[in-house]
Amino acid sequence: MRNPSFVPEPQKVRLTTIHDPATGDIVDRALITYFKAPHSFTGEDIIELSCHGSPVLLRNMLDIILSLNARLAEPGEFTLRALGHGRLNLSQAEAIRDLINAKTKAAVHQAQRQLGGELSRQLQPLKDILVEVIVPLESALEFVEDDLPEVLIDEIRSKLSTLGTRIAQLGDTFKSGRLLRDGMKVVLIGKPNVGKSSVFNQLLVQDRAIVTAVAGTTRDSLSEGISLSGIPILLTDTAGLRTSEDPIENLGVERTRTAIADADLIIYLIDRSQSLTSEDSAVFEAVRQNPHIIALNKSDLPPFPQSAYAPTSEETIAVVNISAKLGTGLDDLRAAIIHPFISHNISSDGLLVTDARHFDLLKRTGDSLRSSHELLGDRVSEELVLVGLYDALRCLGEITGETTPDDVLSAIFATFCIGK
Ligand code: GDP
Repeated sequence: MRNPSFVPEPQKVRLTTIHDPATGDIVDRALITYFKAPHSFTGEDIIELSCHGSPVLLRNMLDIILSLNARLAEPGEFTLRALGHGRLNLSQAEAIRDLINAKTKAAVHQAQRQLGGELSRQLQPLKDILVEVIVPLESALEFVEDDLPEVLIDEIRSKLSTLGTRIAQLGDTFKSGRLLRDGMKVVLIGKPNVGKSSVFNQLLVQDRAIVTAVAGTTRDSLSEGISLSGIPILLTDTAGLRTSEDPIENLGVERTRTAIADADLIIYLIDRSQSLTSEDSAVFEAVRQNPHIIALNKSDLPPFPQSAYAPTSEETIAVVNISAKLGTGLDDLRAAIIHPFISHNISSDGLLVTDARHFDLLKRTGDSLRSSHELLGDRVSEELVLVGLYDALRCLGEITGETTPDDVLSAIFATFCIGK
């Protein structure tokens, strides 16, 4: 591309030789596409260059473009511009970020649904009902002499109840949705030799094709990403917690505590073939107040009778018999890991709320609806009832970005990666 006034034909891909304007040297032969406004991602004129993938070449190309007075985009700037030009709404923009960060197929699937506008589609009828409710209340205010008829009040209250239920149902999906997006930290804990590493490896085996190596947070522990029923799990083996001579340090209680504090769920391992020792009890003391599964390992060996009385606490989610050696009981263990956290079938067709911001707004909508419902029951002035209803409408609008304050927008787009 020697001629600076060269403008490629819109919506056509063209193979072009690109020269450095300063030296005339060939930089690359690249594909160039001109997306003419408004038919582009942002709704503005966009030129896209598809170069060969060498990092050196790409850096060179970028330097040349920057030398021509261009600048790098801010994180999320393209998506923010698309939002500004009405190419997508806020929850769709957030879905793009989630799609890029998705760690499992199920998470990709959910982000795609949101990107397709499903959350906004589900919210629209709810907003419509809210407006339907607001109108008669506003007219009652307008014509003060007419009190609202009882039947109408009952009808409005019933509509508000239905709305509240629907909002609560949507909000309830966040318990699963959050896990789908952010994953779960699961830590294997137990005294030395109970089989932590063996269980760790067994849990990874079936996932070999999709595991991603994750650098351990400390050099003593090993973490790997796996997927259980679509939920990304960061599994940490604390086998390295043991150290040599000092018996207290040997138990690694301090580091075990840190691992426990950081975990969403703990798998507390016991060697079922051996007598429970004070070491087992010390580990359990550290675990008992956090959600945990008790895994009785080495169930292929004759059980030591006393381990049948492994202590449990209110935070014990399940007790499972497993054998890391034979691979038995591991399906029960996998099910126990995810079951308590799944209130919805993640792979089913239902839309899940995956974003804490959306969840918070739904909760605030529900609170406002409830308050208006009560005030209406007490026959207080329509003006007060309307405050809650407008608040609910504003919260729903904030999910899709119609009424989102600028500082919230900036905070959201700061979470995007650069170039998106
Ligand atoms: P860690 O120190 O807790 O990580 O324990 P390891 O996974 O290193 O296992 C300690 C020993 O127990 C090894 O010799 C394993 O082969 C053995 N082991 C682990 N799980 C089982 C099991 O289910 N059955 C039997 N029989 N041996 C096991």
